[in-house]
Amino acid sequence: MINKFIKEFKQILATPQKIVLIPHFNPDGDAMGSSIALQIFLRKLGHDSVVTVPNDCPEVLLWMPGMENVLNYYHNGIEVIHRIINADMIVALDLNSLERMEKLAPVVQQSKAKIAMIDHHHDPENFADLMYSSPKESSTCEMIYKLIEALNIELIDQDIATCLYTGILTDTGSFAYSSTSATTHFIVHQLLKTNINVGEIHQKIYNQHSLGRVQLLGKALSTLQRVQDLPVVYIYLTQKDLNEFGYKKGDTNGFVNYGLTIADVELSVFFIEDAKSKKIKISFRSKNYFSTQQFASNHFSGGGHFHASGGQYKGSMKEAIKHFMKCIKHVSSEFS
Ligand code: 5GP
Ligand code: MN
Repeated sequence: MINKFIKEFKQILATPQKIVLIPHFNPDGDAMGSSIALQIFLRKLGHDSVVTVPNDCPEVLLWMPGMENVLNYYHNGIEVIHRIINADMIVALDLNSLERMEKLAPVVQQSKAKIAMIDHHHDPENFADLMYSSPKESSTCEMIYKLIEALNIELIDQDIATCLYTGILTDTGSFAYSSTSATTHFIVHQLLKTNINVGEIHQKIYNQHSLGRVQLLGKALSTLQRVQDLPVVYIYLTQKDLNEFGYKKGDTNGFVNYGLTIADVELSVFFIEDAKSKKIKISFRSKNYFSTQQFASNHFSGGGHFHASGGQYKGSMKEAIKHFMKCIKHVSSEFS
């Protein structure tokens, strides 16, 4: 897949291009890291490239090099639409369906630009003209490294390496998930040769939280329930809880993982209310054998990876949890 993609990508890059890079909405470290790294790299190759994000980035990522050139649809809507409509190429990053671009999806559909997709999620939809899809990779950042390696590895600099390292670090749970491979560590080895400061990156991502965020974690953990007779736990936060602790986007990232630290738990679930859209957003994480991707797509109009997926439920928190309990009992044989 990568060889075919590289051939087609190279052909497009043979002449200067206007390129727009789009990560998924509610972007995370991998989405931003891969997009900004590619933005910097394409600029170095002489192209006019810009990242446009469908909505705000979490505050803990705002320090990333190249972030100053990122355009946010919510703040620069007209410019973002103009850029997308007039692009020669659009690159979708860390997403497997157009829908994950949220409000930018219909704009992209109106553009005559060629669409490229670079992503590591399962079951990619067929919306792109050229596709580099590799669900085995730890992160989209790992894929961007391989792409840069094939195009011109000499152009890797500290800024690109910092972005790629950030995405790999966050998407592998600090090199803990089983998606972490020998290649992942080899790539990190190469990135570290640019003298990036891994201690500083770690501090900026993990030790920069507000008091409210840590108190919100306390609130979330106080709701922890175990589903009777199953290795399944869940936590939840209502809109009222979020308001009480001054919630900001990204504050609850990682909360769902705490459930998995319990010895015999296989599945941890986190429900979070969004009163504005009248939806409950749900995160699923599993330790070993349970496919969160299948569960999220079958029951909560979502998807993701085997061990980490998300979905949503239209309705109240109570209804969402009730629906979840029904669905989890339905698949209880998978836990025996
Ligand atoms: P999170 O729980 O952190 O929001 O998401 C975990 C993983 O599932 C991420 O890789 C994310 O891309 C994916 N994901 C989250 N929500 C959705 C969704 O609604 N649909 C799909 N297809 N994937 C999702
Ligand atoms: Mn990712």
